Amino acid sequence: MAACVLLIAALGACRSTPSSPTVASLSATGKVRGPAKVRVRLAEVDGARELRVLGDAGDPVTFERAGEFVRRGDGRLARDFRLAPADSDGALTLAATPYPGELWIAARPSGGLRVENRVDLEQYVAGVVAGELALWSAEPAELEAQAVAARTYAVASLLGRGPGGFLWDDVRDQVYAGRHVPDASDGGRAAARRLERALGATRGLALFVGDDLLDARYHAACGGSTARTEDVFGAATGPGSPAVDCAPCARSERDRWEWTAPAADLARAAGALDLGERLESLVPERVDAAGRWLSVRLHGPSRRRTVELTELRGLLDPERLASAGDLRTWPPPGRPITGGLHFSGRGRGHGVGLCQEGARGYARMGWDYERILSHYYPGATLETLGR
Ligand SMILES: [Zn+2]
Repeated sequence: MAACVLLIAALGACRSTPSSPTVASLSATGKVRGPAKVRVRLAEVDGARELRVLGDAGDPVTFERAGEFVRRGDGRLARDFRLAPADSDGALTLAATPYPGELWIAARPSGGLRVENRVDLEQYVAGVVAGELALWSAEPAELEAQAVAARTYAVASLLGRGPGGFLWDDVRDQVYAGRHVPDASDGGRAAARRLERALGATRGLALFVGDDLLDARYHAACGGSTARTEDVFGAATGPGSPAVDCAPCARSERDRWEWTAPAADLARAAGALDLGERLESLVPERVDAAGRWLSVRLHGPSRRRTVELTELRGLLDPERLASAGDLRTWPPPGRPITGGLHFSGRGRGHGVGLCQEGARGYARMGWDYERILSHYYPGATLETLGR
């Protein structure tokens, strides 16, 4: 149990009520219950030596690492500090981002500080939709489909991780933008209303296969067809989704990309995989029905090794080696690599589950969010989480 330390007035009072459950659980009937609060680890400040938190009013309060403890600006030491806004609807601002709910600041075992935002599930989902999509131009059905997928992913992940489980606020889990604060323009206010309506329309809804939560993955753009969950993630956390066609992406040329991996990056990846000092050649090994590369056989001077394409993307540059869809290389597969390696492909992200680009296209064609979800997650049903 975290130490409860009185906060200074600027940040409101420390609440002495017991913590809300942060673990997704099963009811007596086996129905999945969502957690009342979600623990979100803030990546941008993870490991920072010092932090400044701004409350609803007043001066910022600083926190710094002091041995095994955290020292607050007024000199007080504690293992952790739990901060709540003075007004329960208020927000605490850290690194220019306002967060609903509480911030818990603790010493990180590997050095520096760590911060968790403990936030209501629905407020968390709103922050994910705002972080994942461009609210200004998003269609209502696109926002609603994203909200259901994000809620399902969060609860399924927390259920799988058990007590102490948390979600990262970046692509390791889902991009979470804290509280969305609209700008004062008409467009900004309209975007905020669309977000609020999408959350209201889908409140508590998640995707199930039988009694189990779906492993509801999603990605930016598939390039024309999505990938099967097992093909990309192997041991998935639950039932996944098959590969489906995606007409909006198939018609679009916008998500074609190319990138030349420099020789030095290839050498670094070869070293990390124990292949030797350079990458000599590469051949796709497993390829799905749509031509998506799933694994590649890599040859180096010391050894040969097969790795999943997701691992290779992570080792090189997952932003630039943007996807495995329609992937081509120069030199072509199997030919000696003498300098850099040129990649070209279609789509962005792992390609599994809901395609954000496609969901937008279908929403513009008049599909509602239920039809969009049943397209990308065939066989899944929409149900309200137990309470
Ligand atoms: Zn698509």
